[in-house]
Amino acid sequence: MASSKSKQDMNQGWGNRLWLSIFLFVGVTLAGCNMGPEFQAAGNESPPLRSIPDLKNITLRGELGTRWASATANLLTRPDRYSLDSYRANASGTPGALWPDWPGDQFGRMFSVMHVAEGYGWSSVPRLRQAVAGVVLPVQTEDGNFGPRLGLDQQDSRIISGNAFALRGLMDAYKDSGEARYLEAARRLARYYEATFETWEEKGEGGLVHEFYGHCLDGLVRLHELGGDAWALDLAKRIAHLAGRTSHTHHSLSLYRGVIDLYRVTKDAGLLEKAEDYLKWCRDSRIVTGGLPENMPAYYQDEGCALADYLVVNLMMFRATGRDDFLEDAERVLVNHLFMNQFVTGGFGHRLFAPDIIGAKGWQGWEGRFGSENPGCCSLWGQWGLGQAGRYIITRQGNAAEVNLFAAADVGLPDIGTRLEIRSDFPAMKAAVITVRCDRPAKFELRLRRPAWAEGISVKVNGKEVEAGPPGSRITMERTWKSGDKVEMTFRSGLRLVPWPAAGSDRAAVFDGPLCLGLSSAAADVDAYDSLLVDAQANLVLAADGQPQVIGNDGQIICRLRPICEDWQSPDVANPNRLRVLFLLKKGSI
Ligand SMILES: [Zn+2]
Repeated sequence: MASSKSKQDMNQGWGNRLWLSIFLFVGVTLAGCNMGPEFQAAGNESPPLRSIPDLKNITLRGELGTRWASATANLLTRPDRYSLDSYRANASGTPGALWPDWPGDQFGRMFSVMHVAEGYGWSSVPRLRQAVAGVVLPVQTEDGNFGPRLGLDQQDSRIISGNAFALRGLMDAYKDSGEARYLEAARRLARYYEATFETWEEKGEGGLVHEFYGHCLDGLVRLHELGGDAWALDLAKRIAHLAGRTSHTHHSLSLYRGVIDLYRVTKDAGLLEKAEDYLKWCRDSRIVTGGLPENMPAYYQDEGCALADYLVVNLMMFRATGRDDFLEDAERVLVNHLFMNQFVTGGFGHRLFAPDIIGAKGWQGWEGRFGSENPGCCSLWGQWGLGQAGRYIITRQGNAAEVNLFAAADVGLPDIGTRLEIRSDFPAMKAAVITVRCDRPAKFELRLRRPAWAEGISVKVNGKEVEAGPPGSRITMERTWKSGDKVEMTFRSGLRLVPWPAAGSDRAAVFDGPLCLGLSSAAADVDAYDSLLVDAQANLVLAADGQPQVIGNDGQIICRLRPICEDWQSPDVANPNRLRVLFLLKKGSI
């Protein structure tokens, strides 16, 4: 979201390093929370839709927990950035908010941010939500929208997009609080979308529904589910019917979240086909890091929001289909491009985007006050995306517990009286240990994902090696588990070249397990050092210390590759590093 600029005088305040010192090594602990259960797809839903755990049953730890806590603190403990006056201004579309010209966006996304935060145990959320509701709900217009009352045929797509986030956020607030005022506000706003359908139904490229309008889908589906509004489901179906390959990556992927939500309710297989087609376009447009441009198929910069929703849409598609290839794409963008896009503040934003060199500063709004972070949208949606990812670490299907991502976390599975504790070096992924906790022995099948990047996996149960089974399948173990049982996984994966954009290309990236390595401008001139030393068979020639060798224009060799995700600890938000991720392959010994 960077098509217009705001000049509000926001006080940045806090020192960034302080945040790191506070939140590094802090697990996200559970506290009492009053949210109702998230929808769960078990029971009479037809397979293979997985059930996903309630947020309140998940404790994120390790690096994912640290990043999520940092992202959350950057939002929910920052009244200097997000004052009540700024919420009021955002709701009314008047100066005083980061994005006054996207009415509903800030408070809507914040309600969704709060939903995730409260789920994970941030006990300060209910008070904050009450305060925000007190200033935003009174300014809803008679038409039902937030911002100026311009008539149902108004053409400003920012207004329709911001309000779509408001719709989703209001439904999240209703789910969390049970207060009818949120449901009523959402219902009036959804009626606004019903009334403006004709304005936007063919405004997207090629006569498709405009994605800035169409991403109201997820809110409409929730209104049907939680409010019993059948008309909202009918409108959702009409919108989804017109979904296609629209250009704005984030809003399109947000739309496809709604399309998959609609599938969850209707079981219309055509909806999954639409979502899969969009993901195919993403796959064709992405770069080796798993990252996407802000606009498809190509654009000069990325957007944290789009990366977060690319992660989530892939996770949702796994849930709907059980296909691990969606997890591969989800993990790739999560641990590489999305992690790289996060800043030391905990927020997310925009960095330059190209196949070979990424990461430099691009658009910087508010006269550069926040550097490349975009606290008006990306910092919010990045937090939301990281929080959502926690729900897919372990999923349930039938009598199976599926371990999909190996991030350190505790995940309670109350229906089988079990908690699984994962401890790992995620995202490096050399090893993971899963410990079973249960009051009494529990019989279930454990299905461990076999990541595509792993050349080999060894598994021990309580110290004894077990057969990992054939490649291409899950590693499955059905037994009666006792509390304290331990499953130890070791992943074998050396440094490897990933030719890009296709096998046989003369350029390649270097990966170590799931992690993409890059050369940072903090370490070398990334324009001059553009080649990798390989042998006659195009295999990496490593230095004596085991490091890949990068060759400069002057023939000099350096060994400075590091995982690009580590760049989030770079302190300069205003001038982020450039990162070379693609290299020419240079044969021979020097
Ligand atoms: Zn954004």
